[in-house]
Amino acid sequence: MTQPIILFDIDFTLFDTDIFMYARDAYLAKLLQKDLKIAVNYRVEYFQTLTNRREFDPKEFCQFIAVNEYISATTLYQQMYEEKSLYQQALYPEVKEVLTKFQKQNYQIGIFSEGIESFQLNKLRFCEIFDFFDSEYIIIFADKTTPEALVSLPSQAWIVDDKSEILEKIAAIRQDLKLILIKRQKIASTKTFIKTNDKQLNRAFTIINNLSEIN
Ligand SMILES: [Mg+2]
Repeated sequence: MTQPIILFDIDFTLFDTDIFMYARDAYLAKLLQKDLKIAVNYRVEYFQTLTNRREFDPKEFCQFIAVNEYISATTLYQQMYEEKSLYQQALYPEVKEVLTKFQKQNYQIGIFSEGIESFQLNKLRFCEIFDFFDSEYIIIFADKTTPEALVSLPSQAWIVDDKSEILEKIAAIRQDLKLILIKRQKIASTKTFIKTNDKQLNRAFTIINNLSEIN
């Protein structure tokens, strides 16, 4: 029997983006030798400039900070966004074990993600999980819910994502896919980031709490 292709979302599926964000704030404060509040303010102010776009762009964020600090945006980017340890602490604990298991069982595993491609790939590389994924199935779009993105998905694939609204959009166009909603516990201070409304959940989704529940 041919094993299915499983495509994983990155943020809040493989990678705890909040943990990364808070660690990066602390790291930035240290680099600038300033109070944590100043680093947090840069992030908040930068996010407020993103009104017309969805994705956070690390290079643009560094330019935003560099305008106010005596540091080059390039240096800041290298020091902050090429720092492996910041990424590694954000990888969910079961990820490597689960990917290893699927690899041993000859599943084809890939990515279905959105945002700035280089940043998304860095998350995989710096967390040392990039090699688990079949390069043919590393699928990253600026917006993964566009028709162009949805038709690109391999037939019969399993899609794992933390956002029910994304799975709803996939379900509307692609009835051949198995859709798996991962509902992770988020850290208390970021509860406002949770958008899932259980009443609206399409019952066709398989719901899991961590990746080891996929079968
Ligand atoms: Mg996500």
